[in-house]
Amino acid sequence: MAMQIVIFGPPGAGKGTQAKFLSEEFNVPHISTGDILRENVKKGTPLGMKAKSYMDRGELVPDALLYDLVKARLAEPDTKKGFLLDGYPRTIPQARALDEILDDLNRKLDAVVNIEVGTTALVRRLSGRRICRACGASYHVAFNPPRAQDVCDACGGELYQRADDREEAIKNRLAVYKKQTQPVLDYYKKKGILIDVDGDREIEEVRADVIHALKEQA
Ligand code: AMP
Repeated sequence: MAMQIVIFGPPGAGKGTQAKFLSEEFNVPHISTGDILRENVKKGTPLGMKAKSYMDRGELVPDALLYDLVKARLAEPDTKKGFLLDGYPRTIPQARALDEILDDLNRKLDAVVNIEVGTTALVRRLSGRRICRACGASYHVAFNPPRAQDVCDACGGELYQRADDREEAIKNRLAVYKKQTQPVLDYYKKKGILIDVDGDREIEEVRADVIHALKEQA
């Protein structure tokens, strides 16, 4: 069964965490546009240099910069068995662009999983989030702390706070989500492939719910 899934939700909803589980469960690649962009910033590629200032401020990178990146990634052979898109689409033009890209590849989305979490909880989650520089694993200083402070349990790498997880950028990201990204939900609702999941629960509970919902949909 080739599952072609988008994982959707505001920043801090737990998309990355759940995406890792789903990618293992359905054996599909986890494609995070945020991770790919951060990788480009780290390497100082032309794309990374163009994207960095938007990202640091918590704003969206222009749609045009994402288009080629997503198109090329979805054309790679490992997506034949399906894929899990995390962080894309984030605007209506991106949702349309994704349909076009998938049409060209003779594919279509099976489901869009929307993880719902209220604003207060999102701010709490984002401001306490720490990421491993080496492997990208995600922690929270209070809710999911590493065994040793600032050290990744999985690989021993150094943990850091993303520039856009600081307070000013968080406010901006949540405002951007409401204005530019939330309307995308309606787009998928109309297509009948939207699955809403309550994300304000333990990681394990959300995981079980999401997997159950996707298996029913398939
Ligand atoms: P994320 O890791 O998904 O929270 O993404 C981090 C940042 O990367 C966002 O705040 C944006 O600046 C940028 N970004 C990631 N995905 C997209 C996208 N689909 N469209 C525009 N900007 C994006």
